[in-house]
Amino acid sequence: MTTDTNAPIEADTADAVTAFSDLGLSDAVLKAVREIGYETPSAIQAATIPPLLAGRDVVGLAQTGTGKTAAFALPILSRLDVSQKKPQALVLSPTRELALQVCEAFEQYASQMRGVHVLPVYGGQAYGVQLSALRRGVHVVVGTPGRIMDHLAKGTLDLSELKYLVLDEADEMLKMGFAEDVETILADTPDDKQVALFSATMPAQIRRISKQYLNDAEEITVKNKTTTSANTTQRYLMVSYPQKVDALTRILEVENFEGMIVFVRTKSETETLAEKLRARGYSAAAISGDVAQAQRERTVNQLKSGKLDILVATDVAARGLDVDRISHVVNYDIPIDTESYVHRIGRTGRAGRSGAAISFVTPRERRLLGAIEKATRQPLTEMQLPSVEDVNVTRLARFDDAITAALGQQDRISAFRDIVGHYVEHHDVPEADVAAALAVVAQGDTPLLLDPAAERPARRERPERSSDRSFDRDDRAPRSFDRDDRGERPERRPRTTKPMSPYRIEVGRRQRVEPRQIVGALANEGGLSREDFGAIQIRPDFSIVELPADLSKDVLDRLVDTRISGKLIEIRPDRRSAPRRDDRDERPARKPRHQ
Ligand code: AMP
Repeated sequence: MTTDTNAPIEADTADAVTAFSDLGLSDAVLKAVREIGYETPSAIQAATIPPLLAGRDVVGLAQTGTGKTAAFALPILSRLDVSQKKPQALVLSPTRELALQVCEAFEQYASQMRGVHVLPVYGGQAYGVQLSALRRGVHVVVGTPGRIMDHLAKGTLDLSELKYLVLDEADEMLKMGFAEDVETILADTPDDKQVALFSATMPAQIRRISKQYLNDAEEITVKNKTTTSANTTQRYLMVSYPQKVDALTRILEVENFEGMIVFVRTKSETETLAEKLRARGYSAAAISGDVAQAQRERTVNQLKSGKLDILVATDVAARGLDVDRISHVVNYDIPIDTESYVHRIGRTGRAGRSGAAISFVTPRERRLLGAIEKATRQPLTEMQLPSVEDVNVTRLARFDDAITAALGQQDRISAFRDIVGHYVEHHDVPEADVAAALAVVAQGDTPLLLDPAAERPARRERPERSSDRSFDRDDRAPRSFDRDDRGERPERRPRTTKPMSPYRIEVGRRQRVEPRQIVGALANEGGLSREDFGAIQIRPDFSIVELPADLSKDVLDRLVDTRISGKLIEIRPDRRSAPRRDDRDERPARKPRHQ
């Protein structure tokens, strides 16, 4: 069963772009990928999916953030036999958090398939939930090795029909002391299963495990051959996801840019963000692979001629774009491949000009930043979010510049000079007051300066909590009083007398979220008490939660990394859809599938 691994294959999407439709995935999976908005497969996906679909064992050297979850989930789902109720796929993850994320990803990728059941299995969660789900039938189990071993020992997990085994973040699992468990699971599952092993590093122990337990595995690494232009300065800004629009707006205010490309990860985001920028008064347009060629050319010409200043684009749409005016590239979403990073920032600093690249990095993406620095062999400089004062200094400088420029138009000035002189003479008002009054007319209702008291977004992100990657192997009680699934929560929460405000979170019916999960997560991570919760409305793609109107920024900061069902909740005040008093909806959402 065991032979040596093949010579490594280097994955590189930048040179030859593959389409998802060329990889051999099933129609339902392709449709889901299209719906999510991924444009092209990442390097690791393009290299890994075909051999996995062909039934080969694979060893992939890939870090979190490179798209490796889809690299194994898409081929598994493409070949899943939904009629078979015993687990067909097992994914071993080092932490509970990663297991939940992987489950969430599987469910997203299976959104166009009927009746696929994915079950997270980890220590700290009550056995009852896992057992009843397993009894009903589960196709994919994603779990931490310790708890999977417990189930195997108890005879509650039947892996006799297992076809696919994935070791996710194998090096992390070994670091956490799971080597023995992992080897036992590898040895005690059917011989003819297919194995995919993903790891950011390849220590000797992993090499030995892959030699011993994998069959003629194809080894795939993501190629790191990259160079970046010397005339482009590279900076990064730590932001949380909900702060990104505000951060971009401030950067647009203070950076002296001529033309800019803002890169986002999905096609749908190009349009959404371009619309937000237009609403803030910028001339911005979106291009993605979905935009017809003629329209794309028109947009690029507008950018060249200066009719347009900001292009919001995906990697594919901006490939090869050559416009000298582009002084700035902003990676609104940091790219998942280092080669994409190099291609993106190569759009600026052209024709001998200097360029600037700014990458937004959320706390979870720190590792991607490290990979980029390693691959480009250049450190990126951390920048701070421009403060209100920075913005105001720039606005005043622009105001002065506008006066200076207008004074240069002597013909028009002289026509107005008489009118103003006439006013001064007849109203006995100092000329400076008249000039100020004219500035008020010119400015309209929008204040010239930002209010320093309204310094909202945090200027520095707090460091990633070490607990993010912690895993409790034992069966300690769950940290959250609401995550133990014992169903003791009364249907209605007591009405609170505090003044409340609506907050929006980006999980909804689609994630099969229930009010008690929301209360549990927010209470647990934000330090809120049950009395802090008002009405909760669960909508298809998001939910509105009433929380105290005087909720402090500290609480919101603590919730920056919070996930429910593996998805970042991106909590923020909701100004549009305050729950109506007569519409307090505490309907339990549909029962989640086997969770
Ligand atoms: P992972 O490395 O699997 O944790 O994925 C990192 C992030 O990249 C996740 O937010 C995915 O949704 C996203 N992602 C995965 N594949 C692609 C793709 N082909 N194009 C754009 N984003 C992707």
